[in-house]
Amino acid sequence: MGECSHNCESCSSKGSCSNEKLNEKMNRIKNKIFVLSGKGGVGKSTVSALIALSLAREGFKVALLDVDFHGPSQPTLFNVQHSRLGATETEELEALEIAGIKLISIGLLLEDADQAVIWRGPAKIGVLKQILEETAWGDLDYLICDFPPGTGDEILSGCQLIPGDKRAVIVTTPQELSLADCRKCIDFCRQAELPIAGVVENMAYFVCDNCDKKHYIFNNGGGKKLAEQYGLKFLASLPLDPAFLEQCDKGNIAVALKNSRLFQDELQDVVNI
Ligand code: ADP
Repeated sequence: MGECSHNCESCSSKGSCSNEKLNEKMNRIKNKIFVLSGKGGVGKSTVSALIALSLAREGFKVALLDVDFHGPSQPTLFNVQHSRLGATETEELEALEIAGIKLISIGLLLEDADQAVIWRGPAKIGVLKQILEETAWGDLDYLICDFPPGTGDEILSGCQLIPGDKRAVIVTTPQELSLADCRKCIDFCRQAELPIAGVVENMAYFVCDNCDKKHYIFNNGGGKKLAEQYGLKFLASLPLDPAFLEQCDKGNIAVALKNSRLFQDELQDVVNI
């Protein structure tokens, strides 16, 4: 391993740095998409999975990286909570192949799925770096990264550790409380020089069983207005759908997407990011 001249803030290995390995791996991935939200519970993990699945349906090679250390949701969405990640013959971390995508989740690295992760920032950054450089990603069209809500250590480290072009997708619900935090996310992206691919509005409206009317429970059009305010692309407006939630709770998100023409149509622009 060559002498490193990067002097990265998060790196403690000094002269024997393994950034070369990281760079080599990341260079084999064409698009890196960071899925961000200001608040938790707005559906960021769900949308991350839907983006990954929609891209895979289009024939792209996709990996989904769940770096929500304190609340990894991807294992539940894909019903693999009890699986653990293995190693390849070359001792690299092996992603779980599920529904046409490669899945890596912090939740699949813990011995017990219900174990709480109580790590400070530097430990989390170290694990993130290790995952990025030790995983056998191979050649990919997209790496979708599901980051924790807000603008904390993980996203900042993602920006610093992952070389080359990357873009963010902002997920919000329509109400002001979520939009206000998303504005901070957008400001973070500007400061970190992370271009934004667009905004996804989740839980935009509800259609009840007895009528075809859209009910705007959390306000109407907040996500679109946010996109317009910042000159961003409005990518999708997803309904609040109890049947979809039931499938997600059972770990059937891939089937839920396959069976929902509405979700597929709404996510059409997402496959062009
Ligand atoms: P976050 O990652 O922002 O914390 P999640 O993706 O974990 O949010 O979603 C929170 C909850 O809302 C989950 O139970 C999920 O299944 C549900 N959910 C997300 N989007 C929708 C939707 N469009 N319709 C119904 N339920 C949804």
